Amino acid sequence: MRESRGTVVIDIERCKGCELCISACPPNVLLMSGEVNETGYRYPLLQQGCTGCTACQMVCPDQVFEVYRLGVR
Ligand code: SF4
Ligand code: SF4
Repeated sequence: MRESRGTVVIDIERCKGCELCISACPPNVLLMSGEVNETGYRYPLLQQGCTGCTACQMVCPDQVFEVYRLGVR
């Protein structure tokens, strides 16, 4: 399993399912859900290996992501 150097909090109810974040993520650790949110859109799920790069936060038109960088241990 890849180490995560960052993590994201995903506000799934804000998501409109555009999938821009999926291809924007350099380590490819975002996957679209099978389930839908209250508005009927699929939303991203985070897998292991986030680098905290903020690319998803920058590309998302709906402010779904909050990015946190994990401290060096
Ligand atoms: S912060 Fe970067 S690595 Fe982490 S999910 Fe977003 S785009 Fe992917
Ligand atoms: S870029 Fe934002 S709105 Fe589009 S699928 Fe990703 S989280 Fe949802």
